[in-house]
Amino acid sequence: MSADTVRTRAEARDWVLSRRAEGLRIGLVPTMGALHAGHLSLIRAAAAECDVVVVSIFVNPTQFGPSEDLERYPRRLEADLQAAGAAGARLVFAPEPEEMYAADAATWVTVEGLTDRLCGAARPGHFRGVATVVAKLFHILPAHTAYFGRKDFQQSVVIRRMVRDLDFDIQVRVMPTVREPDGLALSSRNAYLGPEERRRARCLVHALEEARRLFGEGRRDRMTLVRAMGEVVRREAPGANVEYIEVVDPETLEPAACAEEDSVALLAVRIGATRLIDNLPLVAPPDPVLPGA
Ligand code: AMP
Repeated sequence: MSADTVRTRAEARDWVLSRRAEGLRIGLVPTMGALHAGHLSLIRAAAAECDVVVVSIFVNPTQFGPSEDLERYPRRLEADLQAAGAAGARLVFAPEPEEMYAADAATWVTVEGLTDRLCGAARPGHFRGVATVVAKLFHILPAHTAYFGRKDFQQSVVIRRMVRDLDFDIQVRVMPTVREPDGLALSSRNAYLGPEERRRARCLVHALEEARRLFGEGRRDRMTLVRAMGEVVRREAPGANVEYIEVVDPETLEPAACAEEDSVALLAVRIGATRLIDNLPLVAPPDPVLPGA
């Protein structure tokens, strides 16, 4: 079943407030569309835990830098509506940029510290755009619980911090990364990869697995792990441009001088023109158990 679609903030808010007034629990899944199995896993998780699932599809211009892929970012609304509905979404909010941002919009949400490193260092203003649009979506679609993917680990930390600091009345759930059978994390940007690039893209998950393996052998020194990950990338994707490779504390995102069980290895690598990111905790968490599973 295809989900209902609304294009305006007023319709979206009315719809959600009406469902809330009926006593239903609302789950929200914010996306930029081009839905893949990673997005659909968030919708299914929301459907398992909430009465009603709302998905937003909005390619948010304020989180793209001037030389980034805003224009070329994949857009396929019709297919997304089908896929979202089949996964359990009841409503899709798909606004145009003009509906979301007044021409003279001047207010931004900036989460300091957490956003100046890792992806934030290479993409200035990116997390300001993300935090602002997510704050707006939380107001427009006042859900009980919002679902995000662990794939964008820094984003999930930034959003949890924003929710805490600004007292948003919403629970944030961060769900596991969905991967291709060979381990590559699903991403809308994987569509940009040519066949040889696609093969090389496996270096990201292989590097993370190497960090896990070394940690399992008792290696704790951050630089040992970072260097080993770099070697995997150089070996499997010669010429790839490494933006960062790090092992961090999962709350502060500070480099973990001495890696611990909850430390997170993460990296950003350009394969050809395509920027890919991935992360893994150094110790595999237990599989999440969904209600009814
Ligand atoms: P995006 O459309 O890229 O903005 O992603 C929307 C949401 O889907 C974000 O919370 C992402 O972290 C999440 N997501 C993207 N890729 C995956 C994946 N492979 N597995 C799980 N969640 C994902």
